[in-house]
Amino acid sequence: MTDTLKSPLQVDLSGQAAIVTGASRGLGRAIALALAGSGAKVACVARGTDKLTETANAIRAAGGTAEVFACDVTDGQSVQQVVDSVVEKWGKLHILVNNAGVTRDTLIPRMSDEDWDAVVNTNLRGTFLFTRAAARPMMQGRYGRIINIASVSGLSGNPGQANYSASKAGVIGMTRTVAKELAGRKITVNAVAPGFIETEMTEALGPVVLEEVKRRIPAKRVGQPAEIAYGVLFLASEAANYITGQVLTIDGGLCA
Ligand code: NDP
Repeated sequence: MTDTLKSPLQVDLSGQAAIVTGASRGLGRAIALALAGSGAKVACVARGTDKLTETANAIRAAGGTAEVFACDVTDGQSVQQVVDSVVEKWGKLHILVNNAGVTRDTLIPRMSDEDWDAVVNTNLRGTFLFTRAAARPMMQGRYGRIINIASVSGLSGNPGQANYSASKAGVIGMTRTVAKELAGRKITVNAVAPGFIETEMTEALGPVVLEEVKRRIPAKRVGQPAEIAYGVLFLASEAANYITGQVLTIDGGLCA
C-alpha cells in the first residue's frame, strides 16, 4: 500500500465489503482510500465516472480492491442495483458510507424550489435510499456499519444554507432512528459532522469567505479530507462496536 492509504489508526477491515457514495473527490475519495487501506473492498459510487475511476485506480495501484459504480443516489432503482451488485460480487455488505452531497447556497427569500429539491433529494433522500437498500443484506449478515456524513450546518444552522442544514439535520434524525431500529442486529448507524474541510465544495466559497471562516475556527485552519476519513475509519472499526446513534463532530472546535 502507498502512503495515500496509510492511516494513523490500526484498523483491520480485511474481507469486508464497503460502499462509499460521492467517492470521486473530496471527503468521499479520502474515505474510500482509508477504508481500502485497512483492507476493505470498496465500491466507489458517483454520477460521473472519470474521477471515480481515478479513485478506484489509486486504490488498485496501492494493492487494494475497488469497483466503480455510476449511480445517482436520488434514483432508487440505480441504488438498489449497486447494493445488489456488491452483494453478488463480494458476498456481503459490511460498510455503507453515505457521503454524496451537494450545496445550493442562497438566502431563504431567493431560494428556488429547485435549490431546495436538489439539495434535500441528494443529501437526505439519497441517504435514505442507500440505507434502506443496505439494511436488508446487513440484517441477513447480522453485521453492519452505516456512517452518514452530516455537517455542523445540520447541528447549528448556517445563513444561506436553509436547504443544506435541513437536509443534514434530517440525516442526523434518520441516523438516530435507524440506529435504534438496527442495533439488535449488530448494525451500528452513526453520523460524522464535519466543519469546514478543504474540498471543491468549500473552494466554491471563495478566498475572502474562507479567510473569515478560518478566523472563526478555534484551530485556525480548515480540516483536511483525511481527518474526516480517520473518524469514519474508527466508526467502521471493531473498536466502535458499542457506539451507535451518535454524531462525531470533526470541526477544529467550531461547534465546541
Ligand atoms: P464534493 O463536492 O467535493 O464531492 C461530492 C461528491 O458527491 C462527488 O463525488 C460527486 O460526484 C458526488 N455526488 C454529488 N451528487 C451526487 C448524486 N446525486 N449521486 C451520486 N453522487 C453524487 O463534496 P465534499 O467532499 O466537500 O463533501 C462530501 C460530503 O461531506 C457531502 O455530503 C458534504 O455535504 C459533506 N460535508 C462537507 C464539508 C466540507 O467542508 N467539504 C463540511 C461538512 C459536510 P458526481 O458529481 O460525479 O456525482
